[in-house]
Amino acid sequence: MSETPCTGCEDLLELYLDGELAEEAVRTTEEHLDACGYCRRNYRFERLFRAYMRQAISEPISPELSSKLAALKSSAK
Ligand SMILES: [Zn+2]
Repeated sequence: MSETPCTGCEDLLELYLDGELAEEAVRTTEEHLDACGYCRRNYRFERLFRAYMRQAISEPISPELSSKLAALKSSAK
């Protein structure tokens, strides 16, 4: 599967994940995520990554989780 990397909305995704977008921008971003497989994978990866990072504060990431992360990361490229 080949896709053109979508670089224009990485900043938008960051803000979206941080919950810092205005309501209208959230809607625009969600519509974009629906239409753009590249950003959807990026978003899923970032969201998982953040969840793991939060978890890592209290417990170390297991080898299983970190290999899942690595697989996700390479599929998002
Ligand atoms: Zn995109």
